[in-house]
Amino acid sequence: MRMYYFCMLRTIAALLFTLAACALLTPDTATAKGRLRIVYDLPEPEDVAAARTIHQSEVAEEVAQIVEDWNLLAEDVTLRFGTQLGPHFAVLQNGKLEIQIPYEFFSNTKNLFAEKKYVTQKDPATSALNTLHHAIYHELGHAIIYSQPTGITESMEEDAVDTLSAILLISEYEDGAKIAASAAKAFQLLATEPESRLNIQGDIRRVQEINCLIYGSNPEKYQNLLEDLPTNSDTICPARFLKHHKLWEKILKIPLPD
Ligand SMILES: [Zn+2]
Repeated sequence: MRMYYFCMLRTIAALLFTLAACALLTPDTATAKGRLRIVYDLPEPEDVAAARTIHQSEVAEEVAQIVEDWNLLAEDVTLRFGTQLGPHFAVLQNGKLEIQIPYEFFSNTKNLFAEKKYVTQKDPATSALNTLHHAIYHELGHAIIYSQPTGITESMEEDAVDTLSAILLISEYEDGAKIAASAAKAFQLLATEPESRLNIQGDIRRVQEINCLIYGSNPEKYQNLLEDLPTNSDTICPARFLKHHKLWEKILKIPLPD
């Protein structure tokens, strides 16, 4: 009997040790295991050039790699290029999750940059690809919020995913601030379009929010952004960047690079 107890205790001890070892080896994020699967639909003749540029840029593949490296998704999401509508996040009738982006989104943004002569960047295609990069992370944010508890309410969601997109770009990519700045510029240019059906006030606010996060991430480096930001941004923006950076680290259960 004594021997039996001893054996049982030893088994329990071994089990506890194994569980403790597993807990050490497995971070909280291990529960998230979704992947971003990329699909390029056959383009219409007028979209062939845009489809080729997007495909060759590997912007989508870079995002998929970061999703995998950081376990950003709790379930699989398809990133489909070549849809009629979008960019948007959709839950399909079969329950599958899909980010849909028309090839036209890239062409239209590229034309916008070309027409408005956005000279800070060398060519409109790069600026349009940067804007696409931001859009993918924005829609990915919607997918994250849909598929896991984040505490983000519907009314906060649009701002929250814009913030997430900017923070992931700034934190994960060497030239991430430049990529996010292109998206901010696109919103700014859209706001000046006379026929724009978009909410102009909303677009201006988005521009300021993104630029505030870029400035806040490194005030010395992005000093030039201050002149277009509201007063007190020099104190508000660094605090805002830190706050959102920490908040998303908590939601995603990962340590994001600064
Ligand atoms: Zn959105």
